[in-house]
Formats: sequence, structure tokens, C-alpha cells
Amino acid sequence: MSASERVRVAVVGAGAGGLVAAAYLAKAGVHVEVFEAQAHVGGCASCFTIGGNRFHAGATTLVGLEPHMPLARMLDELDLAVPHHRLERAMAIARAGETIRLAQDNAANAARFERTFGHAFGAFWAHAAAVAPRAWSLIAEAPVPPKTFADLAWLATSREAWALLPELLTTTRSRLEGFGQVPREGIELLDELLLVSTQATSARTPALFGAVGCEYLERPLYMPHGGLGALFELVAARVRARGALLHLSTRVDAVRVHAQHVTIEANGTTTEFDAVVLGLTCWDAARLVHGAPRATFERQAKRHRDAWSAAGGYFVVDDVFGDDAPVYTQVVLERPMRSTGARGFFVTVPPREDRSLVPNTGERTLTVSCHTESEPWFSCDDSAFRERRSELLEEIEGGLRAAIPALAHARVHARHPATPRTWQSFTGRHLGRVGGLPFARDLRTLAYPTGATGSPHVVAVGDTVFPGQSVTATAIGARRGALALLAHFARSA
Ligand SMILES: Cc1cc2nc3c(=O)[nH]c(=O)nc-3n(C[C@H](O)[C@H](O)[C@H](O)COP(=O)(O)OP(=O)(O)OC[C@H]3O[C@@H](n4cnc5c(N)ncnc54)[C@H](O)[C@@H]3O)c2cc1C
Repeated sequence: MSASERVRVAVVGAGAGGLVAAAYLAKAGVHVEVFEAQAHVGGCASCFTIGGNRFHAGATTLVGLEPHMPLARMLDELDLAVPHHRLERAMAIARAGETIRLAQDNAANAARFERTFGHAFGAFWAHAAAVAPRAWSLIAEAPVPPKTFADLAWLATSREAWALLPELLTTTRSRLEGFGQVPREGIELLDELLLVSTQATSARTPALFGAVGCEYLERPLYMPHGGLGALFELVAARVRARGALLHLSTRVDAVRVHAQHVTIEANGTTTEFDAVVLGLTCWDAARLVHGAPRATFERQAKRHRDAWSAAGGYFVVDDVFGDDAPVYTQVVLERPMRSTGARGFFVTVPPREDRSLVPNTGERTLTVSCHTESEPWFSCDDSAFRERRSELLEEIEGGLRAAIPALAHARVHARHPATPRTWQSFTGRHLGRVGGLPFARDLRTLAYPTGATGSPHVVAVGDTVFPGQSVTATAIGARRGALALLAHFARSA
């Protein structure tokens, strides 16, 4: 029996972070119990059903299933085969009456952007594609952000880390403008794209992360059969098959950390474990955890205050889409939305051939989301909230009809809004803060939480742990967290 096989670990939250960590721990023979407040797994990357239609709740894009990419390697390590659609030319940008269809071909996209926004934008786009794969490799392997002398020593001896340092020290906007003059519309477009991937605009995002955020738009994209939620339903099934217990509809009320063990309080019962993985944001961990690591989470929560929430809607519309319609469209609006303040929104129309996502012939489901500040949705009274929520749906519907010509006269069969209040109740995230921490070029990025808490038997995972937002990045961080915990068990055996 190995050291890991004698230990008991609680995992709080069955989102991407908690589940991936649980899968690695269960594979190593650890006794794992996962506590999930909802009746389903997946959190922000789950699917839900209303009126017979299955919708993506939040996350809809998945990158990294090529064999050499970190996510594919992880699925391999976990012996997981994920049936999926590989989506060709899936991404489009709709702005000012034109649609830019992105190809899985950087030169073609760079040429297209050069025609629309000038030489500098095209050159920047080509540069980003050269930097991004190197950034992905470094993020997956290096101890970043460095927190100890050993981490710094690792980075100091890495030639690749030195080579990429200038990309970390300059902003994406400066890198772009270093190639020449760019019209305002080009910068606004880049800002919209980066908000989705790095949670910050080009003037704040380091060029290193900006490159990753741009290049992801021309990566092959994948949709698991049944949507992103199905991916985590598969991971959960694998975790169970390895003997772990999955307690659904079980909200954890407190995590108490002692010198050698932790206790989990849920449903009026207290259970003792050797260690805990917190698949929660730093803001929520700061409220739930009692004992030494609480101070770490409180510090993180105080430092990283400016996080976004999301708003959007779920629609069922006439199937007016051609066979070659893009699955994903980033709509850039002429004016910011009144309800959300966003300059655009992201639309997903799942492929027609997936009958579990498109059950009714002649109809299609749409998931729409955008960034919004959370506080205004909570500080208003109920009647102002309802008014704002109606305005949200109207603005999205108007924007969809204007940006996607086929939808101009389509019938809308059902519409369901999603606001920060929805996100708070759906994921338990305080103020509905979704989407991780902004990758801004200030000291806070260097202070991006790594998941270490000062107590080796308490590890944080999820999208407020480096490398942060997105299903793939969260999975990378969760793998690291699980391996750190296994290393701790091995040392203390
Ligand atoms: C609108 C939107 C669109 C997005 N689009 C994309 C995209 O297209 N592609 C992409 O890769 N990423 C996307 N993301 C980001 C991605 O979904 C997240 O980064 C990732 O899923 C976060 O996983 P997590 O485990 O950190 O957190 P969560 O998904 O929030 O999971 C946390 C889990 O913990 C549970 N929980 C919370 N509190 C408790 C408690 N006290 N006790 C027990 N359980 C608890 C919750 O119910 C939840 O299931 C999107 C996110 C949003 C919100």
C-alpha cells in the first residue's frame, strides 16, 4: 500500500477544478469524497435542461485536445476518452455590419485583419501566434508565478523563461502599437477579445497572456458530445469508478483546518479528513475556511477585488442557420449595452448534428454571455433588478438580430436570462463573480494565487488559482494542486 492509499481527502466543489483534482487523487489510490452543493457537476462548465432543451450554462469553448496539448495529456493520464465534435472554422467576429470568419490558419487571419485594421494589426496577430505555444508550454511546466527561492532558481536557469520575459513586461497594447498605428476600432476589437480570455483589456494584459488569448481564437475548437457539461459528467463517472464518493446536493458550511487534519461540516454532520482540496474561488474560501489558511484567502480576496461577473441569456430560436454557420460568434456592438456596460457578447450555437443539444428539428438553442460588474445587480431593489433583466434580454435579442443577418426575422420560442444573481445561486460564487482573476500587468498578476495555502494539507484549485480562467487552465491548475498534495503525502509517509 502506498502512502497515498492510507489518506482521506475531501474535495469541496465539483466544478472543473475540484473534479480534475479528485480524478488525480482517486487515481493515486487516495480515499476521496467530493462535496457538491448542486445536484449536478461542472459548475460554470455544466449544462442544464429547461423545457426539454439542454443549454450550456457558461463555458462553451474547449481548446487543447490535440495530442501534444496539456488537456489531451491530462485526459490520457486519467484514461478518459471524450467523444467530441472537432469544429472547423468555428469562430467568427461580427462587427459594424461585417463578419470576420476566423480560419485555423494564422497567415490567413493575419491577412484578413491587415485588410480591415492595417499592417500593424496583421503583424501583431502573426507575432501572437508565434509566442502563444511557447507560453502554453511554460505555463504547464514552470513554477509560475514564483513564490519561493526554488521557483525563482528554476526560472533563472530556464532559457525559455528569459526569452519570454519581455512579453511579460510589456502590455498587449504596447506590443500591438509597436508594429505601427492601429485604428480605434482595431483596439476596441482586441479589447473585447481579451476580456473573454484574460479578463482584462489590451492596455492591462501582459503581451505574453495577450498572445495566448488571441491565438486561442484560431486553435482547433472541440465540443464534447452533449456539451461541455458532458465532459465533467464523464470525469465524475471516472472519479466514482475509482472508488470516490460524490455527495451531490451537499453544501459545505465550514472547513476547519487543524495542524494534522481537517473537518468538513455539511448537512449537520462533521467528518474528519487528512486533507482538503478547495475547488472554490479565493473569495468563497475566505468565507468558508476556519484556521491557519483563512488569512491567506483573506489576503487574496482583498488583493484581487476587481473581478467580473457575467450576464446573458439562453434562447431557443428557429433554425435559420446555414450548414456552414459558425458555432461561436463574438458580437461587437456599436454602443455599450445599458444593462451590462459590455461592448459586445459571445454567442454559441451548438452544432446541429448533436441531437442532445439540439433536440427539436427546426429549432436551435443559443447561449449568450458577456461581462458585467456584479455589484449593481445586487445593490438595486427587486423591481429595478427585474427591469434591468428584461432590458438585458431585449438588448441581446436586438444585438443578435442586427449582427447575425439570418436571425433578423427568426422566431424566438423561449428566452431565459442569466444575471450575476443567477450565477451566485447557480455556483455559490459570492456576488456571482465568475471568470477568474484579471491577467493585468501589475503586481497582482505576480501575486496570482498558486493554490498553496501555507498548510500543506490544504490546497486550493479552480479559476482563481494560476493559470486561472477557462476550463483548460483550471484543469492545469487542478492537476498541479493534486500532485502537490500527493507529494506532501509521500514526504510525510
Ligand atoms: C459565462 C461564462 C462563460 C465561460 N466561457 C468559457 C469558455 O467558453 N471556455 C472556457 O474554457 N471557459 C469558459 N468559462 C470559464 C470556465 O467555465 C471556468 O473558469 C471554470 O469552469 C471554473 O471552474 P471552477 O472549478 O474553478 O469553478 P466552478 O465552475 O464555479 O465550480 C465550483 C463548484 O463548487 C460548488 N460549490 C460552491 N460552494 C460550495 C460549497 N460551499 N459546498 C459545496 N460545493 C460548493 C459549486 O456549486 C460549483 O459546482 C466561462 C465562464 C462563464 C461564467
